[in-house]
Amino acid sequence: MENINWSELPFGYMKTDYNLRCYYRDGKWGEIEVCSSEYIPVHMAATALHYGQQSFEGLKAFMGQDGKVRLFRSEENAKRMQNSAKGILMAEPTLELFKEMTHKVINLNKRFVPPYGTGASLYIRPLLFGSGPQVGVKPAEEYMLIFFVTPVGPYFKEGFSPVSMLVTREFDRAAPLGTGRYKVGGNYAASLTSMEKAHDGGFANVLYLDAKEKKYIDECGPANFFAIKDNTYVTPKSESILPSITNMSLLALAEDMGMKTERRPVVLEELDSFEEAGACGTAAVISPIKSIYDDDNKKEYTFKSPGEISFKLYERLIAIQNGDDEDKFGWVDIVE
Ligand SMILES: *Cc1c(COP(=O)(O)O)cnc(C)c1O
Repeated sequence: MENINWSELPFGYMKTDYNLRCYYRDGKWGEIEVCSSEYIPVHMAATALHYGQQSFEGLKAFMGQDGKVRLFRSEENAKRMQNSAKGILMAEPTLELFKEMTHKVINLNKRFVPPYGTGASLYIRPLLFGSGPQVGVKPAEEYMLIFFVTPVGPYFKEGFSPVSMLVTREFDRAAPLGTGRYKVGGNYAASLTSMEKAHDGGFANVLYLDAKEKKYIDECGPANFFAIKDNTYVTPKSESILPSITNMSLLALAEDMGMKTERRPVVLEELDSFEEAGACGTAAVISPIKSIYDDDNKKEYTFKSPGEISFKLYERLIAIQNGDDEDKFGWVDIVE
């Protein structure tokens, strides 16, 4: 096979051998189809294209030192995709279908699972969308579920490297009772302008505030926000943030390490009292935050970076994912 430089892989798309497709037609899911083309035939009136009936997931598979491929909490991704589907009236994939497609797409592309020790992993991208035509605004009658994979590098090539975030009051990514808690593309479309502004200013991403009062912290672009103070793991509770599986896992690990944990509304000014801050999600696990800049008030909040508690949490999580640590929470599935 082509020579892949595993430790230099970006977080990006690379063609692999196979992808899977499954259609929901006449009220039921059909057979899983194996495909080698990267293209899909789509009806020009598909609801995904016009009315945003679309959701996706992202999860990783890791090669262990024992040569076994491990999946991290994939059932949580399946449940979240069901919830996203429910939220925008799409057909829900069953948990069994999601699992079968996840295992099958990994096995068919096994040669793309990066070797143990490179820090790289195989990223699995499930995609669900309304493929049936409508012109009036209503849910499609046909849905397509696609699973593709791409090997991705460690998010931080130089290791655990701290980033800066920009507070925005000029844009919202999701409304308080909108689709923020679903993993749907529309939230990302809504975030692009503010994200580009942040990048232009030299920031890694945007820290969104709650859309209604602009008082509480929501999340950081495509990752949840957490902070550490007084041996407590604090993360915002809000109806408009996406329930991150990484965040849920870090909460459990923090508790296991004897820390207190709090999921509650977090006002922006509380940043002053935090010792460590971070963004968390599947792609990077944890991006430690060194500073958060509030341009409207010309105020900069700074944190210990990298903080040792965040680093400990990061190391424990990746050790479980890679199979180096005992899976005491039952989070890991071996891909057979
Ligand atoms: C996917 C996603 C996250 C991270 O969720 P994980 O399950 O930890 O990968 C956080 N915020 C948003 C908006 C997301 O789409």
